[in-house]
Amino acid sequence: MKYITVVKNDPESKKIEEKIKNSLELEYDPKDPDYVIAIGGDGTIIKASHRYPNAILFGVHTGHLGFYANYTIDDVDELINDIKNNTYECHNIDLLSCELKTKNKTILLGNALNEITIITPLKTLTLDVFIDNEFFETFKGTGLCISTPFGSTAYNKSLNGAVIDTSLSAIQVTEIAAINSNAYRTLASPLVLSSNREIELKRKNYSEKMFVTIDHESKEIDNYVSIIIKLSDNKIKMACHNQEDHLKRIRRTFLK
Ligand code: NAP
Repeated sequence: MKYITVVKNDPESKKIEEKIKNSLELEYDPKDPDYVIAIGGDGTIIKASHRYPNAILFGVHTGHLGFYANYTIDDVDELINDIKNNTYECHNIDLLSCELKTKNKTILLGNALNEITIITPLKTLTLDVFIDNEFFETFKGTGLCISTPFGSTAYNKSLNGAVIDTSLSAIQVTEIAAINSNAYRTLASPLVLSSNREIELKRKNYSEKMFVTIDHESKEIDNYVSIIIKLSDNKIKMACHNQEDHLKRIRRTFLK
């Protein structure tokens, strides 16, 4: 078995990386690792998942325990033993896929662990929102955020979206500064959908450029007909020893 580390650029995270490298007698392989050990915050773990989507991901949080990390600084020996003795559990985490439809083809832009946003920060964006090929609403405003249950505590929460239990399989749509008047009307509430729904955002104004963000990555999009967002067939394999309940993570992060 081969492994790689993805590490936040701070002394504490680097110290843990050194300890892990000195203890694991496995080949270090940045090209095709079986295990990825991400040391840092949720941001580091998300970046590691984008770089190595097929590997088993071990997250060590060097700040307060985040939402993706299942090991703390105090659990590093346990993580090393789990890898050596195969004593970890593995959970599949849902991803959202983002496809770009142009006049001629449909291409995959990427998969998101947290969320996909469609956004025009400087101008207003006008999109026809279709759910399962049925017209739902015309959105006018800054953008839309489409998130996973794990992503519900990230950007979605800042937009007053609902925090979703990660044991549910769902897709949430939240508005980013929608214009609501007698001329334009949107739901104006977060919309939580079953994860087997497909969301299509059809472009209304052909002169508009917009940004699509897929977690920390962003792309400027010009020539498109629509964006399609749905549950991806791919999952992220996240390792843990004893999975902590999601509600405890919510409480520790936001209430205590
Ligand atoms: P980043 O610094 O990696 O992440 C921004 C903050 O969000 C960090 O404090 C990070 O925690 C936290 N975070 C990430 N995923 C989370 C989750 N599922 N639940 C709770 N907190 C979470 O910034 P980046 O590199 O640009 O990463 C992009 C992410 O930032 C996006 O996925 C988006 O969710 C978030 N974002 C938030 C806003 C907002 O709230 N206004 C705006 C844009 C983007 P750690 O410190 O543990 O890494």
